Amino acid sequence: MTFVETLTPIVTGIIEPRAVQTDREGRFPREAISALGEAGLLGLVSATEVGGLGLGLREAAEVVSRIAQACPSTAMVVCMHYCGAVVLESFGKLPVRQAIAQGKHLTTLAFSEADSRSHFWAPTGTARANGAQVILDARKSWVTSAFEADSYVWSSKPLAAEGASTLWLVGAKLAALSQQSGYDGLGLRGNASTPITATGVAVSADDQLGEDGKGFDAMMGVVLPWFSTLSAACSTGLMEGALSRAITHVSGTRHLHLDSSLADLPTIRAYLARARIKTDMAQALLKDTLDAIATSRPDTMLRVLEVKAATAETALEVTDIAMRVCGGAAFRKEAGIERLFRDARAASVMGPTSDVAYDFIGKAITGLPLF
Ligand SMILES: Cc1cc2nc3c(=O)[nH]c(=O)nc-3n(C[C@H](O)[C@H](O)[C@H](O)COP(=O)(O)OP(=O)(O)OC[C@H]3O[C@@H](n4cnc5c(N)ncnc54)[C@H](O)[C@@H]3O)c2cc1C
Repeated sequence: MTFVETLTPIVTGIIEPRAVQTDREGRFPREAISALGEAGLLGLVSATEVGGLGLGLREAAEVVSRIAQACPSTAMVVCMHYCGAVVLESFGKLPVRQAIAQGKHLTTLAFSEADSRSHFWAPTGTARANGAQVILDARKSWVTSAFEADSYVWSSKPLAAEGASTLWLVGAKLAALSQQSGYDGLGLRGNASTPITATGVAVSADDQLGEDGKGFDAMMGVVLPWFSTLSAACSTGLMEGALSRAITHVSGTRHLHLDSSLADLPTIRAYLARARIKTDMAQALLKDTLDAIATSRPDTMLRVLEVKAATAETALEVTDIAMRVCGGAAFRKEAGIERLFRDARAASVMGPTSDVAYDFIGKAITGLPLF
């Protein structure tokens, strides 16, 4: 069976039927994550030597995109897991890599902090040596799958070296980690994204991921291409989901006194055409970004920055069109469109935010240093 054949029944049988409840109750999609783990899909990017499927970013994007058509909350949990997993594939120890490959370990990124906010590359949380242990203190501002994941790929200021940051593997259930309250947000309501405070969290010095002070390199070289592309996959999947729901609604809804459907109105069709064009442009940019990364093209970093901002902003436009063409019906939960409209708003404020990406892209094309 291909990974797509494995994924499809999980989406249609488990994720899609629970998507409304996940959103309404702000409930973490535990059944979906367990099913994905049992089917081997949480180990999609883990090497075959450790028991994973040994697949890459292109396949991960397909998984995230397909899930996002049904439930963007679940898609973002999986997106963050793949981003953390790829860091652990490079720097993690064998047991955690094997656990991820076996689908028994969910991970995520804990980068953003209360004091440096969306500038995730500049943690202010600290790490200090204490014998064979390292003590971490931080006020993480947003962590997807907070207290639901098994581990966090965690950033801090370096222990002793020069540099912007150091990465750590932090067990998610450590007692010195705390959460003030659960997540009750506008969108992606099922992904348990909350602040986490670390007050004297003790990890082993062995839990350092990569060299001290080199966290920035891993963030830019490994995490950014994966996160930007998978966030784009989430946004494009979400657009496809909104568009197909809107098309179903306008095709099946009639003005009986005129004996015509909403789709018979040229204005409605023109809006849908615009949404289709925008979605296809976003899909084309995503495909080109995957090609650029796969072949290490010289414009790869530019594409990586572009694809997240372009798809995040386009998803806002496409879900806006879906709301418009479905009229008042789109305000009701049962059409499933207002949920995607709300979910779409997260990508543009997730780091690098669209406005930060515009600044970086502007610097890159005018020959200025990014940092
Ligand atoms: C649902 C959700 C899940 C998340 N999950 C995670 C996670 O798992 N791990 C994680 O580490 N983080 C996560 N984040 C955090 C995210 O990556 C950002 O750090 C966060 O959304 C930024 O919000 P803020 O209010 O702190 O931004 P601020 O930095 O306060 O930004 C406010 C506004 O200022 C703009 N701005 C800031 N700097 C610049 C600049 N230099 N140029 C132009 N404009 C600028 C921003 O674009 C934004 O519009 C998540 C966020 C959300 C919404």
